Amino acid sequence: MNDTLDVLIVGGGPVGACLAGLLLSGAGGPALRVAVLEPERPRAPEPGSPFDLRVSAFSRASEHLLAACGAWARIPRERLSPFERMRVWHASAAPHGPDVLVFDAAHAGEPNLGHIIENRQVQAALLDAFEEAGGRIIPARLRDLEIGEDRVTVTTTEGTLAARLLVGADGARSAVREAIGLTADVLEYGQSAIVAMVTTERPHERTAWQRFLRNGTLAFLPLADGTSSIVWSIDTARAAALCEASPEEFAAELERDADGALGRIRLVSERAAFPLRRLAAHRYVVHRCALVGDAAHVVHPLAGQGVNLGLLDAATLAELILDARSEREDPGALRVLRRYERWRKSENQLMGSMIHAFNRFLAHGSGPLSRLAQRGLGWVNRSEELKRFFIGRALGLSGELPRICTAKAGIEAGAP
Ligand SMILES: Cc1cc2nc3c(=O)[nH]c(=O)nc-3n(C[C@H](O)[C@H](O)[C@H](O)COP(=O)(O)OP(=O)(O)OC[C@H]3O[C@@H](n4cnc5c(N)ncnc54)[C@H](O)[C@@H]3O)c2cc1C
Repeated sequence: MNDTLDVLIVGGGPVGACLAGLLLSGAGGPALRVAVLEPERPRAPEPGSPFDLRVSAFSRASEHLLAACGAWARIPRERLSPFERMRVWHASAAPHGPDVLVFDAAHAGEPNLGHIIENRQVQAALLDAFEEAGGRIIPARLRDLEIGEDRVTVTTTEGTLAARLLVGADGARSAVREAIGLTADVLEYGQSAIVAMVTTERPHERTAWQRFLRNGTLAFLPLADGTSSIVWSIDTARAAALCEASPEEFAAELERDADGALGRIRLVSERAAFPLRRLAAHRYVVHRCALVGDAAHVVHPLAGQGVNLGLLDAATLAELILDARSEREDPGALRVLRRYERWRKSENQLMGSMIHAFNRFLAHGSGPLSRLAQRGLGWVNRSEELKRFFIGRALGLSGELPRICTAKAGIEAGAP
């Protein structure tokens, strides 16, 4: 086969599409031959249409990565919802009392702490930018693959392809992960996250509000049109009942769980519930294949980190592939891929464990460790140093970062 690609990415979700864009935009020498396999390419939302149900909080690091591949400029300003503050509190505390943990962008010298953006909008902007830069998007689904010494041969619903490196960016139920025999630890939380749009009596003040409930978590993400997107993670049976309840019953339960923080609430959209699980692949790579994003790791949505971690996987893998190319190394060589795995697995495990502990001891539980964790919110609030650490994590600008994040941010790698 003489039309072998350099890199074939299975899955054009936000992570796969970002990797594709970074590989093309970072090409200083001879261009890499990159293609994306994506059977369900979305269109950007129509101008003036209401916000989609599926939105995510994108960190500053993610903003830099989207900008680097030409996607950020494609997102209309009115569909970007910056948030300037986060207010986090436990059910044992009053929503406007002294034990609320407040992170404020102004205190960190930042204009905001990130942006809430529709998933579909980000995915469409990334894929459009990639295509315009000369990338190839193949509207097909992976069927099967075979790893050879110098290439991977892939059977799709539309024909056969070959690549020197195959990347699985095909989400939590990754067919690539399965086909290359990589195992994972999986934990079913027994919870589902309800997502919906609401209006609130009190303005959201460009603040992300989050309450740990003793039996789950409730977040209000502020949108530019004044509405809020809720992510309400609770036991699956209760979530199913609430999705069936009348809009008035739903809003009344929501007001109760929000402890009146935003006043009266009205449901203004459909509701959808997503079962929650944690997944951590034991290995991210084999010869000629790598996993990125949800294909490698899935975390609880309470910290709004899933896609942000995946975009950092994409940036790290892109950097190592481009470095290998400038050294005339094979991008699919296990030596290159192992560096990616060592780098990202430790970062993802650290964040995954922190999020898991928040869910176990703050969102649930009543033992001594939970009481300690609840008090911890107040301690963090009173310590400028701890707050800076958590703001750095929320902005995605701490930990070991790929060069593209630090270059744009003008900061030293590893600085909080
Ligand atoms: C309720 C909820 C709220 C969340 N909120 C946040 C948040 O605020 N911030 C945040 O950072 N994260 C959040 N997340 C997590 C975030 O949604 C995921 O981490 C993110 O979507 C993962 O992106 P991905 O590109 O890895 O995978 P996906 O988004 O799942 O994309 C996978 C792509 O692969 C394609 N595909 C699948 N199978 C195949 C195949 N066989 N062949 C070819 N293509 C295939 C699919 O069509 C899809 O486009 C949230 C998650 C949930 C459930």
